[in-house]
Amino acid sequence: MTGATGGGAFDLHTHSVFSDGTTRPADIAREAAELGLAGFALTDHDTIDGWSEAREAARRHGVGFLPGIEITTKHDWHSRHLLAYGIDPAAGELFEALAEVRGHRLGRAREMVRRIAADYAITWEAVVGAEDARTVGRPHIADALVAAGYFADRSAAFADVLHPGSPYYIGTYALETVDAIRLVRAAGGVPVLAHPAASRQRGTTSRQEMREFAAAGLWGAELDHPENRAEWLPPLRRAAAELALETTGASDYHGAGKPNRLGERSTQAALVERLRELVVTPR
Ligand code: AMP
Ligand code: ZN
Ligand code: FE
Ligand code: FE
Repeated sequence: MTGATGGGAFDLHTHSVFSDGTTRPADIAREAAELGLAGFALTDHDTIDGWSEAREAARRHGVGFLPGIEITTKHDWHSRHLLAYGIDPAAGELFEALAEVRGHRLGRAREMVRRIAADYAITWEAVVGAEDARTVGRPHIADALVAAGYFADRSAAFADVLHPGSPYYIGTYALETVDAIRLVRAAGGVPVLAHPAASRQRGTTSRQEMREFAAAGLWGAELDHPENRAEWLPPLRRAAAELALETTGASDYHGAGKPNRLGERSTQAALVERLRELVVTPR
């Protein structure tokens, strides 16, 4: 991990072209430096393939870098995203599980594209594009639909053809949240629950869930996130305090793929330092 200790703030949740962001890890590092951030975490969905580029670019631009990942999980059939920082890339069990998640994502995306292609002129090639190593998801199908002129942007495609209520939609395989939390800890990483009050989730994360997650080893909850609903936050703040969970802030930047702007929410560097101290991975 790269330096940048002391003051300032980190954006702890960003996506690059290695999953469904539209910018390269090196661009995020440059943008973070331009914005005057102390550093950032790259948290691509279910993959760590962008880490080396991000780490190198962060060093070049003089900003801190915290390696991360966002894992697709489920708890009682609710989708719950788990951020994990500093996991050991050599941790077998976690990465086997993630390879399975990505494999299912691929099959599910292919099947969704097959269904959509019956009514919309898009192809699988247009969806996967030039970069086949990335974690494929609905955002890439959205991009193909936008490129073919059916929708103005990703959000419009998500509200229609890609919506879970649409006949084209297929759910994706996910790990159980508590299992993922344990796997992350076993891999020397620090787990943080992503956007627990996001408005696109059917409901907020309950206090009971927070208790179960904390018992499994959760370290923190991303209570400061642009999509968290303000009215769902007070009970989560109380639960976090009661369970001694840390609270983080981050933008969930996806480049041009979402309106979220880099650095619009952030976490104090002092808390990031405390997080780093828990990371078991060699730096
Ligand atoms: P998937 O995991 O393939 O079901 O796709 C879900 C991902 O799409 C989420 O993790 C978000 O990053 C992204 N996403 C969800 N809603 C939107 C939206 N309205 N516009 C753009 N991206 C979105
Ligand atoms: Zn995403
Ligand atoms: Fe997420
Ligand atoms: Fe995200």
